Amino acid sequence: GRKKLIAGNWKMNGSLAANAALMGELLAGIGQPACDVAVCVPAVYLAQVQLLLAGQGGIALGAQDVSQHESGAYTGDVSAAMLKELGARYVIVGHSERRQYQGETDAQVAVKAQRALAAGLTPIVCVGETLREREQGETESVVSRQLSAVIQLNGERLADLVVAYEPVWAIGTGRTATPEQAQTVHAALRALLAAADLQAAGVRILYGGSMNAGNAAELLAQPDIDGGLIGGASLKARDFLKIIETAS
Ligand code: 13P
Repeated sequence: GRKKLIAGNWKMNGSLAANAALMGELLAGIGQPACDVAVCVPAVYLAQVQLLLAGQGGIALGAQDVSQHESGAYTGDVSAAMLKELGARYVIVGHSERRQYQGETDAQVAVKAQRALAAGLTPIVCVGETLREREQGETESVVSRQLSAVIQLNGERLADLVVAYEPVWAIGTGRTATPEQAQTVHAALRALLAAADLQAAGVRILYGGSMNAGNAAELLAQPDIDGGLIGGASLKARDFLKIIETAS
């Protein structure tokens, strides 16, 4: 079976003091979870959180984005090698907020995943449709197009990916996908991976979008939902710990 992964995405939130408090509460309460756990923090806080985590298993470190370039004259970019050196294990690529506000394309997301894999990081590749796309019946074609770009460029490394299905209309809205809606899309993504690589049966497909302590259980009970990518609820230690407990 696939070990579940609960990953927090702090987005552009936090401060040195708030991060220390949150990590203190998480480390105090986490115990020995049966699932994998990660926090994906703003790049400027990677060093801080790495120090807070030092020597304590149980929580892995992740970043929220990575440059599509390896190194060089790309002012403001952060490379995969830099993330790796700071102790990151995961990096989110292709989050819908970056696709929307930074205009990231499927092709760029695929290259970012490739850079992450080459540096020894696990990319968490995000896909998801907008409300308009869902209403037009385009959900499967959109997420298939998004994931196919990543598959094409990373064919030999698919087993090392994590995928996250995050319907855009469910992000930060309090409106979660129903377990059935999510399962349907997860099964389609699973089939796409399996068609490309038999090993892909082990790839974890996370759900993201208003997942919280109250709705996590029914989502995580679906056969193809292998964890969660948690935004708002990952900033509250009690809620995040509850979700971890639910997944364990
Ligand atoms: P929320 O959990 O705040 O809806 O955010 C989900 C998300 O975008 C995680 O990457």
